[in-house]
Parts: sequence; structure tokens; C-alpha cells
Amino acid sequence: MEEGRPVTGIRYICVGCGAEVTSEQLSLTPEIKCPFCGYRVLKKARPQIVKRVKAV
Ligand SMILES: [Zn+2]
Repeated sequence: MEEGRPVTGIRYICVGCGAEVTSEQLSLTPEIKCPFCGYRVLKKARPQIVKRVKAV
């Protein structure tokens, strides 16, 4: 499976300063790093999934 499309809506959390970085912001720089502090370790933040419960 090849996925060439950039996935939007994914957020990353900078391990260094804790800032939230979007995938769009990361795409602006040639390498993955925090645009705020320059730290290169980012972890994926889980997208907020809204669970809908059917009312029976
Ligand atoms: Zn940072």
C-alpha cells in the first residue's frame, strides 16, 4: 500500500516543550522538528474520536 497523500488533521506533541504541532506545520520544514523549540522528538497525538452512542 502506498499512501502518497499527506494526511491532514494529525497532530503531534513536541516532547521537548509540549507544544502541539500540526502535520501542516511539519510539512513546512524539510525535517521533522518542533517549529517552536527545534526539538526533533515528536509524538503523535491521537485524534479526538467522538463516539456516538445510539440512543435506544
Ligand atoms: Zn518544542
